[in-house]
Amino acid sequence: MTRDPVRIRDLVVERGATRRGFLTVGETGAGPVQMPVVVVHGARPGPTLCLTGGVHATEYPGQTAVRELTRGLDPATLTGTVIGVPVVNLPMFAARSGFVSPIDGLNLNRVAPGRPDGTITELIAHTLFTEILSLATHHIDCHGGDLGEALWPYAAYRMTGNSELDRTGEAMARCWSPGVVALFRDGTPMIPTGTVTTEAAKRGIASILGECGSDNGLDPADVQTHLRGITNVMRYLGMLPGDPVVSPRQLVGTGQFQVHARRGGLVRLSAAVGQTITEGETLGEIWDVFGDVVETLRAPSRGLVRLVWTRKVVNSGDAVLKCWVTEPAPPFPVTDRFIGT
Ligand SMILES: [Zn+2]
Repeated sequence: MTRDPVRIRDLVVERGATRRGFLTVGETGAGPVQMPVVVVHGARPGPTLCLTGGVHATEYPGQTAVRELTRGLDPATLTGTVIGVPVVNLPMFAARSGFVSPIDGLNLNRVAPGRPDGTITELIAHTLFTEILSLATHHIDCHGGDLGEALWPYAAYRMTGNSELDRTGEAMARCWSPGVVALFRDGTPMIPTGTVTTEAAKRGIASILGECGSDNGLDPADVQTHLRGITNVMRYLGMLPGDPVVSPRQLVGTGQFQVHARRGGLVRLSAAVGQTITEGETLGEIWDVFGDVVETLRAPSRGLVRLVWTRKVVNSGDAVLKCWVTEPAPPFPVTDRFIGT
């Protein structure tokens, strides 16, 4: 339930008001490192939803959705509270750095929940967890394809074993996603540790990952996908009027695999994100510097292409694309089939 008033350091937000400011998280030789925060404190009590963008700060559609949503909300008609952090990682934002911070080389989405005595990225994570997420009941971390990545939209939730929390997290992912929903568990392959959503869920926050957007771009359609997803989750949580609308064609990502290049050269892919590939299908070719085809890439099994690396040159062993193994999603509302596993 929403605290009243909301206090984040010297930012004090009374019910029915919107306020914004910056939190200083640490210092470089050039001055303070800050984190922007906007609080929309609804007139009626309800859930506290945290929206984070720019954990990877060159992923622009998600952070733009956080900006647009918080600017458009009317606290007089909002139930509950939205705490938005449009750009969590301002050093990356300023330097236009993909994946890792230009200051300490760390990936914020691998070092959560951070450390109070850490370097700048760890301090950003620590501030996010101790001063912002600690106020939240629900959370959406808005990501997308980073530099050199083309991505098919999906939402993911990390199952915790807490049945009530997992039921909410799964439902939020179903409400957010226009297509694929992934529910990660202990032992799920290719799932990194230290992600913001995983660590938030461990702390009892229904925290999902919303992914849409590609390769340093800011396509308005991708911003709309984020906005639709967030708005749909807010309807599910009763923060906005109306019922959530869930696509009847959703898929559950039950596994994933990557296709790697064995030979170095120029990649000419024929497969694209969102495409369903079948075992043995030709995905593209690798040419050497003279233009001879040195490798033909083939699908090892059936899958939905979820990520393509858009770089034109690969070396032996590089991943070229990543796929979901999928099955149709069960009807919504969510049943008990995933609970407590
Ligand atoms: Zn990301």
